[in-house]
Amino acid sequence: MAKGKARTKAVSGGARPSSGRRVIEVPETITVRELANRMEISPIQLIKELMRNGIMANINQTIDFDSAAIVAEDLGFELRREGLPVPEVVEEEAPPARPRRPFVREEDLPHLVPRPPVVTVMGHVDHGKTSLLDVIRKTNVVASEAGGITQRIGAYQVEKQGRKITFIDTPGHEAFTAMRARGAQVTDIAVLVVAADDGVMPQTLEAIDHARAAQVPIIVALNKIDKPTANIERTKKQLSEIGLTPDDWGGDTICVPVSAKTQVGIEDLLDAILLVAEDADLKANPNRPAAGTVIEAQLDRTRGPTATVLVQAGTLREGDDILIDDIYGRVRAMFDENGERLPEATPSTPVAILGLSGVPEAGDIFEVVEDEKTAKTLAAQRAEEKRLAALRPTRVLSLDDVYAQMQAGQVKELNLILKADIQGALEPIRSSLERLGDENLRVNIIRQDTGGITESDIMLAVASKAIVIGFNVRQDPAARRMAQAEGVDVRRYDVIYHLVEDVEKALKGLLEPRYEKVVLGQAEVRAVFDIPRRGKVAGLYVQEGKVTRDALARVLRDGQEVYDGRVASLKRYTEDVKEVAAGFECGLGLENFQDFQEGDIIEFYKQERVG
Ligand code: GDP
Repeated sequence: MAKGKARTKAVSGGARPSSGRRVIEVPETITVRELANRMEISPIQLIKELMRNGIMANINQTIDFDSAAIVAEDLGFELRREGLPVPEVVEEEAPPARPRRPFVREEDLPHLVPRPPVVTVMGHVDHGKTSLLDVIRKTNVVASEAGGITQRIGAYQVEKQGRKITFIDTPGHEAFTAMRARGAQVTDIAVLVVAADDGVMPQTLEAIDHARAAQVPIIVALNKIDKPTANIERTKKQLSEIGLTPDDWGGDTICVPVSAKTQVGIEDLLDAILLVAEDADLKANPNRPAAGTVIEAQLDRTRGPTATVLVQAGTLREGDDILIDDIYGRVRAMFDENGERLPEATPSTPVAILGLSGVPEAGDIFEVVEDEKTAKTLAAQRAEEKRLAALRPTRVLSLDDVYAQMQAGQVKELNLILKADIQGALEPIRSSLERLGDENLRVNIIRQDTGGITESDIMLAVASKAIVIGFNVRQDPAARRMAQAEGVDVRRYDVIYHLVEDVEKALKGLLEPRYEKVVLGQAEVRAVFDIPRRGKVAGLYVQEGKVTRDALARVLRDGQEVYDGRVASLKRYTEDVKEVAAGFECGLGLENFQDFQEGDIIEFYKQERVG
């Protein structure tokens, strides 16, 4: 049942004389969606009308007849009770969304108060993300006392009906992903901009994947409706086809037609954001030491390191001692996007801060600590941890580790990105994979698509700690480089059975690690020397890449392999060396091999774990 009842009027339904209003029959209780359907109006219109009457209800909630009658009257309808009482809750309520409560600790629970929503704008290139952000900023900025000069600090707040909304000022899912990859949870609501003349495009789909993977609700802004070529109905149809059925088509997705050019619909968009925010029940405890996320940071020539942080818990004040990863500082001054100095910042407020010891990275978490000494000590500890961590190879998540991480309770969901050559292969693979999960580990396909493995897939994998699985598809070179750099596990198969079997083994902890040969360099034997007591060594000229002491080596004679084993010694003149680059000569000994001949080619390689 909805939280409120009508404040002002109390009517008993159906008793009023008809006055040319459309009469509809409704049961004792009805969901908002069903009532809107029967009235043939958009659920948003109905929800707004309910709000105006003090009734906070979302689309799936049930309201009683009296409440329905009041709003119906305002909307020009007359309600009659349906003949017989109908059992309550005809429609199943949607499961409650996972509460978005970053930074909320157990002890904060009794002290939570509502906070403004934080919104990220995403969508295909040129669909108008930047234009929309600009228009919203210009038309609804929080009144600035001193009329300071607006400056871009990476986020801003606007005010609507006395309620604030925070916008992240870097459009697109790249920034969103980069932050998520660092573990930051900043966005509460994603506004997906879709140009109504262009419709759903590849980056629209990518943005949806990202928002869904982050479990962030999506509001669609159908932009550029001023254009004669805009086709709202076609765009809505496309949206329905990809699971974002507009509310006025009976779906759950709020679609707001707007134009960043003529500024039509901007207020409706803000209303929609407030509605969705209401539903998300966003809360934080303002009475604790502040914590949050770095939105952007740079080195300012005159002011030193500056960072824009989003306060997500507590209240940040000038003079606070702050720790961001291995950077510390005392907040010397804080500014908002109008360049105005703020003495304090409450949850969901973005502020630019001065006084840090270095420049943090977007997505870094900040926290206020007791005093400067604590900040410095912790910063030093973290710097050391970071140094050690840099020495270890990193991997986001590999299929080999799934079992161990599951045992350690570190993963409860195995996120997979599935790419296949043909549409027809996707569904059978998906259903076979999803069947493998159990109560301990759910298999979650966060993207499935046809086509090769691209950088965008790797980005999503990094952000969602996912494994990329390709069936009969190639991986483009840029994606390969990115996967290597980011430590993303990419597995390719050409037999469905093997694919499913590997994932199954991973879930059961049976998978053997896989290794891949990585060629380091190649050299030619130019001379053979017999060294007393050591045997024969080869005098080499390094033709390509490099030769390293810890490498493995294959000796090729006329294209045939005559040896495969370890390097025993590597010298430049009489000095032992770790590596020799192309264009230089060196002396090489191999383990258990002496039969060098001039003209032999030696290939140096490493076995790198790929799984
Ligand atoms: P972004 O790449 O998504 O950030 O798109 P931009 O905001 O840079 O807009 C791309 C182009 O579309 C620019 O030339 C804008 O002037 C234009 N544009 C954006 N919104 C509208 C709109 O509502 N109507 C029209 N006619 N043009 C728009």
